[in-house]
Amino acid sequence: MPARRFHCLTLGCRINQYETQALREAWAAHGLAETDDPARAGVILVNSCAVTAKAVAGLRAALRRLARQNPGARLVLTGCAARDHGPELARSFPGLVAVPQARKAELLAGPPPAGALPAGPGAPPGPAPRSFPPFAVRGAARARAVVMVQDGCSQRCAYCIVPLTRGGPVSREPGAVAAEVQALFAAGWREAVLSGINLRQYGLGQGRDFWDLLAEVDAALAPRWAGRARLRLSSLDPSQLGPKALDTLGAARLVCPHLHLSLQSLAPAVLRRMGRGHYGPEGVARAVADLGAVWPLFGLGADILTGFPGETDEEFRQTLAACAMLPLSYAHVFPYSPRPGTEAAGMPGQVPGPEKTARATALRAVAQAAGRAFARRAAALPEVSVILEYGDPERGVSEHFTPCRLTRPAPGAAPRDLVRARPAGARGAGLAVTPAPDSTTQSARPDGGEPQDDPC
Ligand code: SF4
Repeated sequence: MPARRFHCLTLGCRINQYETQALREAWAAHGLAETDDPARAGVILVNSCAVTAKAVAGLRAALRRLARQNPGARLVLTGCAARDHGPELARSFPGLVAVPQARKAELLAGPPPAGALPAGPGAPPGPAPRSFPPFAVRGAARARAVVMVQDGCSQRCAYCIVPLTRGGPVSREPGAVAAEVQALFAAGWREAVLSGINLRQYGLGQGRDFWDLLAEVDAALAPRWAGRARLRLSSLDPSQLGPKALDTLGAARLVCPHLHLSLQSLAPAVLRRMGRGHYGPEGVARAVADLGAVWPLFGLGADILTGFPGETDEEFRQTLAACAMLPLSYAHVFPYSPRPGTEAAGMPGQVPGPEKTARATALRAVAQAAGRAFARRAAALPEVSVILEYGDPERGVSEHFTPCRLTRPAPGAAPRDLVRARPAGARGAGLAVTPAPDSTTQSARPDGGEPQDDPC
């Protein structure tokens, strides 16, 4: 088996996508070659997620499939599941090397030798990092690039395993963020998603917050890229949406009119039990209404948990009613799943599985109806801007994060291109769009030469 050929599998969130990209670029720089085919790899990197029991079950299934496809490959397991599940998985998959999330950056030096690194239930996430981990990217595996600006979290929401796997918050310098986005735009990407584990903790202890970062990055890049490329924000805590957020979003020239909120619940008592009592339904409704003054139409997504321990029928109804009042364009709804070592796993009042699922189904129905209503409003817009996907260049995503289907190919356009298009009608929660005749002027082909006086 060619030991110098590797394959990557990324599970979980955008941050994992970003860190996989940083590792693939580092391994390529060490002379290894990536293959799309796991059967041809000597080393298989599996970047895992532990956010739900379903994510861990998916990891096991993926490892079984990879071991079947390529029994001779060395499996390198990292990510949030490596610490607690690595030793057990190493017994099931002989030769698997488990590298806990806290040591993921060590993989930048290349694939580790055989033999598991220390990991195990209850092991600390490693020494608290003093600075942002040395991950950086020059590209992305997808049409919309992820740029990681923050890692870790110290909030300790009762259900969440992330603080145990990733440790406390660390933030990236604004100049490094702006430089990376600039390089991605210059290399042909037309959208960068500013992402973190908890953007509410960006700049904690450094005298700045996420809005300061956004203002600085937008000011640095807008003179060159406004109208040609864009920024999107990954998940925000609802409490971040104060006057400063509105001012920053109102002044920004690159930011897509779309926010994704980590709501989790909108029943005040459930939020308090979750350790998220710092916001409530009235504040969220007010902040979202205020956003209307910044963006006449904006996409709005939400993460919501159903069946958190002790969630009563009445509390669920509060969440359902509050969500129905929000102009959601979509929602990611998950039945609560206990994670080992978290406070909520030991709480009384665990909600039976079928009830959690039924609540998730009801909430998804509300979100889907809202998504269809949003698409009808978006269909009345004179124009949208669509980033074309890899794999199917007639599919893309608008600035509002609405899935779009082109009614005909955009002349000369390619994946990653930013195409201007006229909505031709709503299709479920998506849009059919017709490319403008000159839609390829915002091509994603890399720029010819970089001006030496570029601000980044
Ligand atoms: S804010 Fe809460 S949910 Fe988000 S990563 Fe931190 S502990 Fe987890």
